[in-house]
Order: sequence, then structure tokens, then C-alpha cells
Amino acid sequence: MEKIAVVGCGSYMDQGYGCPGEWRCLKAAALGEGKFEEPAAVVAFIKCECPGRTVLPALGMAAKISEIKPDKIYLSSCLVNARPGCPYTAPEDLAALIEDKTGTQVILGTHDYH
Ligand code: SF4
Repeated sequence: MEKIAVVGCGSYMDQGYGCPGEWRCLKAAALGEGKFEEPAAVVAFIKCECPGRTVLPALGMAAKISEIKPDKIYLSSCLVNARPGCPYTAPEDLAALIEDKTGTQVILGTHDYH
């Protein structure tokens, strides 16, 4: 089973707009639905905080302390599909930055639940 990390938009999570940390990302990973081709183990859940500087250090710290390097990193659907969008970084740019710095594939989105 793949080990994956999720990065959620902290702005959504804090404001309760269908928080990506409640269940949607976790259900999709557990059941292999949405962007997951098969069930995956969520080994880290990172909360982005505006303006997004914490994401890379938090991913690095999670991997270091847990001693698990994720096979893939998923940007949550709420982060990727945010309306209005993130005023700081486009999801595609954040994904490219994470891939460049970690060497780990980044997937845009996690689930299709409403
Ligand atoms: S920087 Fe963008 S993705 Fe990160 S918490 Fe703020 S609005 Fe969400």
C-alpha cells in the first residue's frame, strides 16, 4: 500500500467550509476513490497556512519525525479547487515547488465528494 501525505488549505480548514481535514481526503484514501487509484495509507496531513511558507518545512519535519517518506504527496481538493483561489500561489506552482524540493510526485486533488 502506498504511503501518502496530504496538504490541505488551512484557510478552508479554519473557516469550516467543508474542511479537508474532516473526512473527505481520509475516506478517499482509505477506499481508493477520487484521485486515489487504490487504497493508500495517510502518513501525514499538513495544514498550509497563509501565505504558504510552512508547507515545505512541515512536510520535511513530518517525514523526519515519523521516519516515513511518503510515496506521493496530494494537494487536497479544497486547496486545488478553492473559490476564490489562493491569493498567494497557484496549486500547479505549489505542486511544482514541492516536487522540486522533495523529489516526490505531487497529485492535484484528493476526492470528488461534496
Ligand atoms: S496560502 Fe493559499 S493554500 Fe495556503 S492556507 Fe492560505 S489560501 Fe490556503
